[in-house]
Amino acid sequence: MQLTETVKLYPNKYRTELIKATMSEYISTVNYLVLDAINGRAITKITTADVNAALPSALCNQCIRDAKSIIRKYNKVLRNSDTQVKLPVLKKMCCYINNQNFRINDDCINFPVIINGKSKRISVKTKMSERQKSIFSSSKLGTMRIVVKGHDLVAQIVYDTKEDAASSNDNVMGVDLGIKCPAVSYCPDGSIKFYGNGRKNKYIRRHFNNLRKRFQKKAKKPKAVVKINNKEQRIMKDIDHKLSREIVNTARAHDVSVIKLERLQNIRSTTRTSRKNNHSLHTWSFYRLATFIEYKAKLAGIEVEYVDPAYTSQICPICGSVHHAKDRNYICRCGYQTHRDLLGAINICNSTEYIGNRYTA
Ligand SMILES: [Zn+2]
Repeated sequence: MQLTETVKLYPNKYRTELIKATMSEYISTVNYLVLDAINGRAITKITTADVNAALPSALCNQCIRDAKSIIRKYNKVLRNSDTQVKLPVLKKMCCYINNQNFRINDDCINFPVIINGKSKRISVKTKMSERQKSIFSSSKLGTMRIVVKGHDLVAQIVYDTKEDAASSNDNVMGVDLGIKCPAVSYCPDGSIKFYGNGRKNKYIRRHFNNLRKRFQKKAKKPKAVVKINNKEQRIMKDIDHKLSREIVNTARAHDVSVIKLERLQNIRSTTRTSRKNNHSLHTWSFYRLATFIEYKAKLAGIEVEYVDPAYTSQICPICGSVHHAKDRNYICRCGYQTHRDLLGAINICNSTEYIGNRYTA
């Protein structure tokens, strides 16, 4: 499985200029190749010798590869579309360097750029955590992408990671995701766990909403608003990483082979999915948490299955009758009583309404 780690680069002014020049040459070369191909030039036959660019040859190769994949995607869209398709153009400065052409040593990344018309390698300082250092030294690395983020240059490095052997038993864990209660897990052995703090998340969201409002009222300050949004996203993303890690750790501790979740996209008006789907923001945050659980589970050799969310918050697991929970409590005619979110986890765990193994299928 391929994952990405991001590290900030700290080049001096001179090297910053060199890298930025390489990036703009890179995207203009890709755009040029794409345009040529659309105008009828056979892109499959192009070699670095045909590319007239102020780029190290390794990067020329990468440009050709990128252009080919853009053309492939473009042709595919073209085939499946009746209307005009916009010409694919790279706008954001970036460049890709394959694993043969960059080296990571100590706190530096070393890669080629063009200096005075000649390909030369430069070393650029980075800040890597101990965890990143150990990842980079022990994994097979893929391509490195350099992009601009805010005022900084960052390198996004792809690496291969080994997945644990698939679990061989058939233990299942159901997980219900929610707003007030971010996640609840239930295993058939009766073990239950609540995760996260819905009230705190709500408080964070409200805090950032207020900040946004203040800036929007004062004047048009889109930059400040973008900053606030980014900060909020960073915090919520961290929370989701932590939650998903805890959920997968619980699954591991119970020797679970399948984690079951609900997929909320299949909107059924009669069920609580409508409640959860009310806000696109919530749909998005469920999506992110679900995909985090997916990949962390995969790394642990655990499968994720999605089940139909219909009635998972209404059906009684004892007698099978359907009714609504009142407030946070679910009380059935048969005498069965439980916490509303826990009921969801139990029913998801028991559900046989399998609808896929990806959130976006
Ligand atoms: Zn009942």
